Amino acid sequence: MKKDYLITGGTVLTVNSANDIWHDGAVLVSGGRIADIGPSAELSVKYAGADVIDAAGKAVLPGLVNLHLHSGLIRGTAEDMPVFEWLAKHVDPKHRALKEPEAHAASMLCYAESLLAGTTTVLDMYRYMHRSADAAETLGMRAVLSPYVADNPPYLYFESMDKNVRLIEERHETADGRVHVWIGLEHLAYCTEDAYKQAAKLAEKYGVGIHTHGEESKRMARDLHDKFGVWPVELFHRRGILGPRTVLAHCVWMEEAELDLLQKTGTSVAHCPVSNLKLASGISPVAAMLERGINVGIGTDGVKENNNLDMLEEMKFVPLLQKVSRLDARVMKAGEVLRMATMGGAKALGLDREIGSLEIGKKADIIVVDFKKPHLAPFLTGKYDNIVSNLVYSASGQDVDTVMVDGKLLVEGKRLLTGNVEAIMADAQQAVEELLARREAFVPKEFVFPSSRL
Ligand SMILES: [Zn+2]
Repeated sequence: MKKDYLITGGTVLTVNSANDIWHDGAVLVSGGRIADIGPSAELSVKYAGADVIDAAGKAVLPGLVNLHLHSGLIRGTAEDMPVFEWLAKHVDPKHRALKEPEAHAASMLCYAESLLAGTTTVLDMYRYMHRSADAAETLGMRAVLSPYVADNPPYLYFESMDKNVRLIEERHETADGRVHVWIGLEHLAYCTEDAYKQAAKLAEKYGVGIHTHGEESKRMARDLHDKFGVWPVELFHRRGILGPRTVLAHCVWMEEAELDLLQKTGTSVAHCPVSNLKLASGISPVAAMLERGINVGIGTDGVKENNNLDMLEEMKFVPLLQKVSRLDARVMKAGEVLRMATMGGAKALGLDREIGSLEIGKKADIIVVDFKKPHLAPFLTGKYDNIVSNLVYSASGQDVDTVMVDGKLLVEGKRLLTGNVEAIMADAQQAVEELLARREAFVPKEFVFPSSRL
């Protein structure tokens, strides 16, 4: 039996189609779903038997959806390098060396970090993902898993399409429906044409989505164009993977024809501003995407390129980059950013009927952010309402107080209830030390830009 909770006294940001906000509002959670929303005074009388979560001075909002993540362990060790050199010298050798228990330690660490910072759903691309499924099951996370499939030599040490299929058959829609499995494809330089064609067929057969990397690097976009005569998104289209169940990460360098295709096919984009800044990839034209009605969610990317999984911090970079790239401070309001980080992600994952907003009947994936902090004061409602702006521009994951997935309390008073954080960190520490030691043998002496292998 799932407990009933009444979250009372907070400012409830519903992110419904009307963007309704309830000041001194309450949310009733019953049977794992949102059963009522309204004024605290009214709901407190109506549901006197429910366990009360006091949210006075706090904001109550839908759990955040991290639309592009790689579980990982090498935080802060792969710095100051452009994307393909960084992949060749740090990331790919790590994948060669990675073992299953280390992958599990990585997903445990990353999901614990995510939950504590208010992320309730992740789209994760990693390896040995049956162990990511285990981690999501243990910690209570909602996770869409898309393995790193690669079939182009020399990348055969990544996951295979057969393993991806086995993962779908064994783990899709498990953990009370919290774990989903999609087809994952690394990148156009890592996967053959056949892999994309197979992915399209298998996604159709199993009724699942496809996740892959759109282009980050300007040089790679140009090299792909030189080789195939079309831009990367056009190549995805030619290979049959675009559509409403496909999420492309990054999409930094975009031609008009590519935006047209995303729009026409209903393909979603996972925008990762911090990763794009740190790897000096560029600025993705997400304001233009939104103007065309292209669905965009937000992702942190992994700890190796961010270096954290803090979606509240990530949200701030989204409007800042669009404003400065267009030299127009009017571009992109805070409310639009909050919508991208919740409903945008949910829609991309095909889960917008179940999560992404606080509406009666939806699954209770809810977070409470504590605004009783100097950097979030004053707390104003009415004419000078500053709650959504301060959430996007001033809050960080460390302000998240309470996290619920499927109506189950996972974080209470900033404490993870479903896992021992000290033990999770100790496992990650041991795993990364062994991994880095083994990785040495696989680091290439010389860097070759991978388009030479296209
Ligand atoms: Zn990525």
